[in-house]
Amino acid sequence: MQLYELTIHEALAGLRAGSFSAVELTQAVLERIEHVESATGAYLHLAPQAALQVAARADQARADGQDGALLGIPLAIKDLICTQDMPTTCGSRILEGFMTPYDATVISRLRKAGAIILGKTNTDEFAMGSSTEASAYQLTHNPWDLTRVPGGSSGGSAAAVAAGECLGALGSDTGGSVRQPAAFCGVTGLKPTYGRVSRWGVVAYASSLDQVGTLAQDAQDCELLLSVIGGYDPNDATSSQLPLPASEESLEPNLRGMTLGLPKEFFAAGLQPGVEQAVRCAIETFSELGAEIVKVSLPHTRYAVPTYYLISTAEASANLARFDGIRYGKSAEKADDIWEVFRRTRSERFGPEVKRRIMLGTYALSAGYYDAYYKKAQQVRTLIKQDYDRAFETCTALLTPTSPTTAFKLGERIDDPLAMYLGDLCTLSLNLAGNCGISVPCGSADGLPVGLQILGNTYDEAAILKMARVYQQVTDWHRARPVL
Ligand code: GLN
Repeated sequence: MQLYELTIHEALAGLRAGSFSAVELTQAVLERIEHVESATGAYLHLAPQAALQVAARADQARADGQDGALLGIPLAIKDLICTQDMPTTCGSRILEGFMTPYDATVISRLRKAGAIILGKTNTDEFAMGSSTEASAYQLTHNPWDLTRVPGGSSGGSAAAVAAGECLGALGSDTGGSVRQPAAFCGVTGLKPTYGRVSRWGVVAYASSLDQVGTLAQDAQDCELLLSVIGGYDPNDATSSQLPLPASEESLEPNLRGMTLGLPKEFFAAGLQPGVEQAVRCAIETFSELGAEIVKVSLPHTRYAVPTYYLISTAEASANLARFDGIRYGKSAEKADDIWEVFRRTRSERFGPEVKRRIMLGTYALSAGYYDAYYKKAQQVRTLIKQDYDRAFETCTALLTPTSPTTAFKLGERIDDPLAMYLGDLCTLSLNLAGNCGISVPCGSADGLPVGLQILGNTYDEAAILKMARVYQQVTDWHRARPVL
């Protein structure tokens, strides 16, 4: 086994035992990047020299008797999260070369725990997309099949983990952007409860839905990353004071006493047969582990796509107003007056998907339409949340496919926004409800990974992480790696 193939917890054990150094581990990952990055296109920015310096400091700290939850672990960061020492572009031309003056809370927490930040990963522009094709800079290719998308919008992070170009990564999930790329790339992706992880320094797309999530090879690593980045932050008023789930070293392979619901709306027509088969097989495994499986209904699921696309675009239209060519990033050259600076910067530097959403959101918020669209969407959002609350009165968690299909071909949906939006059917409603969820690899269909989604109650990451970890103890889908 190569060092770049290790999980985070395996690498930590090796580092602690002195089997290899953080410099050796980082070098192995950097060599892997050199070898495969031209095929995957996962990174927008790489900082190999800085990474090696931090690794050397980690080795020194360890030699001095120190330890840290992630001391010497090389990670990748979605390019939507502010890092003081590297550009933060959000996959957009409007922030080309933009350097933020501060680190996001999640970044300072990673650094404090001793993590090594290798670089910034590709994303759909401002996280608006499901394939990473809406990045203004480059395409990212799915490591399992280079002609296919890695999913999105955290496609760069998912591809980097799958290809061994980092040991773990951060992404953001507003409507599925951690879980869906995790499913497409055969890795594990955790979307914590809204409020669990600070959003300070995470560029806002839709503030009432955005949440930072973790991508790694298994659920144990996701749990470890959450324990470092999560928890209350005075800089984010929506972050919760509740304690983080206590991480258990080892778990009994036994889920007796858990009731798991299958929401019938997620097993409807349109599900790719191979995906359904793999997910049903995983459900069988949970039943064998002692969990009771019951049928449930989330009746407002069919409104999730329109509700999400009204609320998220409304919030995006307000959040993205700040990118005006004056305060951040690049501005249009040779403009005659301030209005032309605004107009030209925004027309020339936002891509088509971002413009589409700003227009849609502005329309939904405008006088005369506000009640019909935005207010109505907020009311339906409450109904969706109530569906979840009702299901969790009897269930510990819900099991669904993460995406109705496996990774689709590059170019297949980019000119058909509706087809792209409908593909997010299984992930969007969780963000509207604010609950937590995790996607774990559960099989393959035509050689491509399939993700099982485990949906949890608010602040009950402990339950879904336990389920995912126990599932991964008795299966090895998460161990499968693409050949590159
Ligand atoms: N794919 C969804 C969208 O296009 C979700 C994106 C996200 O979670 N950032 O908005």
